[in-house]
Amino acid sequence: IPVEPFDLVIFGGTGDLARRKIFPGLYRRLADGQMPPEARLIGAARSDSDDAEFRALISAALEEFLPAENLRPEIVAQFLEMLSYVKIDALGEGGWPELKGKMREGVVHAFYFSVAPSLFGPIAERLKERGIADGQARIVVEKPFGHDLASAKALNASLAAHFDETQIYRIDHYLGKETVQNLMAVRFGNMLFEPLWNSQYVDHIQITVAETVGVGGRGEYYDRIGAMRDMVQNHLLQLVCLIAMEPPARYDHDAVRDEKLKVIRALDPMEPDDIVRGQYAAGPGGPSYLEDVGDPRSRTESFLAMRLEVSNWRWAGTPFYVRTGKRLKARASEIAIVFKDAPHSIFDVPRGRHSNILSIRLQPNEGMQLGVTIKEPGPGGMRLIDVPLDMTFAEALGDDHDAIPDAYERLIMDVIRGNQTLFMRGDEVEAAWAWTDPVIAGWEARGHIPSPYDQGSSGPDDALMLLHRDGRRWREIR
Ligand code: NAD
Repeated sequence: IPVEPFDLVIFGGTGDLARRKIFPGLYRRLADGQMPPEARLIGAARSDSDDAEFRALISAALEEFLPAENLRPEIVAQFLEMLSYVKIDALGEGGWPELKGKMREGVVHAFYFSVAPSLFGPIAERLKERGIADGQARIVVEKPFGHDLASAKALNASLAAHFDETQIYRIDHYLGKETVQNLMAVRFGNMLFEPLWNSQYVDHIQITVAETVGVGGRGEYYDRIGAMRDMVQNHLLQLVCLIAMEPPARYDHDAVRDEKLKVIRALDPMEPDDIVRGQYAAGPGGPSYLEDVGDPRSRTESFLAMRLEVSNWRWAGTPFYVRTGKRLKARASEIAIVFKDAPHSIFDVPRGRHSNILSIRLQPNEGMQLGVTIKEPGPGGMRLIDVPLDMTFAEALGDDHDAIPDAYERLIMDVIRGNQTLFMRGDEVEAAWAWTDPVIAGWEARGHIPSPYDQGSSGPDDALMLLHRDGRRWREIR
């Protein structure tokens, strides 16, 4: 279903994120017929450039970041026609009147802040004070949303001074993933799962976001952040929320976000024993973390595993194990809901098999599987085997994997539709920092030194112990 015509201004339109994700995503929405050809995409950045040069830059980006078979010359030409460029320094005075002149009446106005967060406030202020954005306009802001609670509050305040919360779209691209939304569909659209979705039937939950890359050229930047701020405070906590939340009364932005907020507020403070931090050692993939960031005494974690508890009626006693790290054995993100064993086995099988696991794969190959036990076919007697019931979309949708929109394109279309459900609300972000800050302060106060781990491994051995001591095991990263 096509969205309404819109003018979308992308601040930082010449940047890495814009070239890699935003413009290729928008192109796919046009090719798919969802973005109307009357839409206008306005790049705004500090560099000296003009429409022709900007079109050439984005044309090259489409070629670089989209598979060749996606590029249909007539659609590419149409897409490039929709682009224009304004030179604006977010902190300066030039370019704003020109931008104002480009905004059409009677269409949706959206402003994507794909720039450093220090520019969010200044851009918001100028958009409002120069009458470029009105009370209907939407602004989209990128991560990181703050470095701690104080900075997140300051960022929220700098936006709230000019825009209403209903106009602010804080992107967490994990929420734009097809499978993440499908998690809600599966939970709340079926009778089958929700009655079992609690501590009585769920043994534990595992969330893994593993990367094979190191910090690469972003070493200095990453070293000031670490895995907790980069991945856990935002993406992994959002996943915890979607798994743990109570059914909202409606699939509606505030109803959903109210329930997620309650989960964050129900998180227990962390004990040191429940946290494992690591740094990758030198290995086949390249230098060690410490070499990559150029600081032999860095105590920032490139790996983090934690045992979380959501202390409420539904989840008390059911651990949520989360882990994320760089230079691990595979690039794989997965949520696994591990159900308890049947209360009594009439078959001669060991306990602790946990054959019912709902695994939700975020990347690569988004999809879901439900492990069930069945009888091995054939005359061999009552032998049990575990088989996965595959709910992978690639099969349901045929071979057309491109039919699954990327997280960014889906989220941008939601902005145009005015649907905030999959965007973080200000109070959610603040609650997440309010939980995160003392955890970081705790390990800093203890002077904790992250353990080295081998590249291509599953992280430090202590992370394995985190589950072993509870009589459990991490799932393979693959
Ligand atoms: P980048 O450095 O590649 O691009 C920055 C863009 O901002 C450029 O277009 C530059 O011209 C523009 N810019 C810089 N200063 C400006 C100013 N004063 N006025 C106007 N424009 C200015 O950065 P990026 O990687 O594209 O990241 C943009 C934002 O997205 C950042 O907040 C980043 O944290 C976030 N983000 C990036 C990625 C990614 O994969 N690159 C992923 C998640 C979030």
